[in-house]
Amino acid sequence: MRRSDPIIIGAGPAGCAAAITLAKGGARPLILERSTETGDALCGGFLSWRTIKSLERLGVSPNGHPVDHLTVFWGDRSTSAPLPERALGLSRRAMDTALLSAAVQAGAGLERGVMVRHLDDLADRTDTVFLATGKYDLKGAERPRTARDPAMGLRVRLPASAALTQLVGAAIELHMFDRGYAGIELQEDGSANICLALRKSLLTEHGRDPRGLLQSLGRSHPAFGARLDSLTDTTPIDAIAAVPYGWHARQTVPGLFRIGDQAGVIPSLAGEGNGIALASGRSAAEAFLAGGREEAPHWQARFGRQSGRPIGRATAIWHTSEFAMGRGLILLALSLFPKLGPAMASATRIEA
Ligand SMILES: Cc1cc2nc3c(=O)[nH]c(=O)nc-3n(C[C@H](O)[C@H](O)[C@H](O)COP(=O)(O)OP(=O)(O)OC[C@H]3O[C@@H](n4cnc5c(N)ncnc54)[C@H](O)[C@@H]3O)c2cc1C
Repeated sequence: MRRSDPIIIGAGPAGCAAAITLAKGGARPLILERSTETGDALCGGFLSWRTIKSLERLGVSPNGHPVDHLTVFWGDRSTSAPLPERALGLSRRAMDTALLSAAVQAGAGLERGVMVRHLDDLADRTDTVFLATGKYDLKGAERPRTARDPAMGLRVRLPASAALTQLVGAAIELHMFDRGYAGIELQEDGSANICLALRKSLLTEHGRDPRGLLQSLGRSHPAFGARLDSLTDTTPIDAIAAVPYGWHARQTVPGLFRIGDQAGVIPSLAGEGNGIALASGRSAAEAFLAGGREEAPHWQARFGRQSGRPIGRATAIWHTSEFAMGRGLILLALSLFPKLGPAMASATRIEA
């Protein structure tokens, strides 16, 4: 490997999008990935029409569960609106496997089971790094964490059943509650992905017991409870702590491209992190191919401006939904103006 060959840290959607674009553009990227096999990353698994286009531009044709409308729930009230275009429910295992295989096929190198601990560890091997470590910060390039009551994510996958197919069908469901919300949709195998974005204090109030919290939310929100019917004492629940929603990078140094969640973190379900991951990975790689390592600060500033708008709008929706009055307003606005749902969904998505 030459020192001018770029290294990508992380084989999530951002790292793979960069690897595919770099390899197709004639560079010789190497991906370093800490896990030894592709798992099912904690994610809502919702792919909008724009993210589907991004995947197709990278040569990946996603084959997921069709989603054509949004239903928003609060307590015993709900309202539905059609999506502007067809979306998909797709597990991260399926999407990440397809992306990584496209990257390797395009010519990217891959080393698995390699945990990079500090940015400086790569100084002898390359002069250009694409930082795509997603939720995890790397020493030497940490994102600021200032929230007093940080956001966190929980995810549970429930097996396919006739009851869930009938309840959820072709919807992306958003269940709002105090200090958080849950997104529910079916995935390519008919299983239901139930993903929550919430404040840490809510979990603390439930004795830091995710199962207890889900059961309690199910009791106080009957529609949500109906969807959790097959949750058992042994169903695995994944968790991710301290998600810096709303943060986005505006600057960097030559030779360091921050992509995916390392470029910006859009509130889950209100916006679409995978869309930002694919768009940033591809456009950062194009900037490198056009102008080399010196392009990093210019690209980061440009992408910061581009992603700042959808991230700001999604953050406003997230904050509004955190309070009872805000939740009432969202539900009222969506039922009075059904076109608002599709408009909001488009305004919080990044261009492919
Ligand atoms: C609760 C929740 C729900 C969500 N729902 C959705 C949704 O429905 N739709 C959507 O579009 N987005 C959703 N997102 C956001 C989405 O999951 C992220 O934006 C997306 O995963 C970012 O991709 P990435 O490639 O930047 O990082 P990741 O997908 O996190 O990938 C990072 C990769 O880097 C590797 N890595 C990390 N550290 C190191 C290291 N030091 N050395 C080597 N390798 C390393 C990891 O193993 C991983 O493979 C959700 C997020 C949360 C928290």
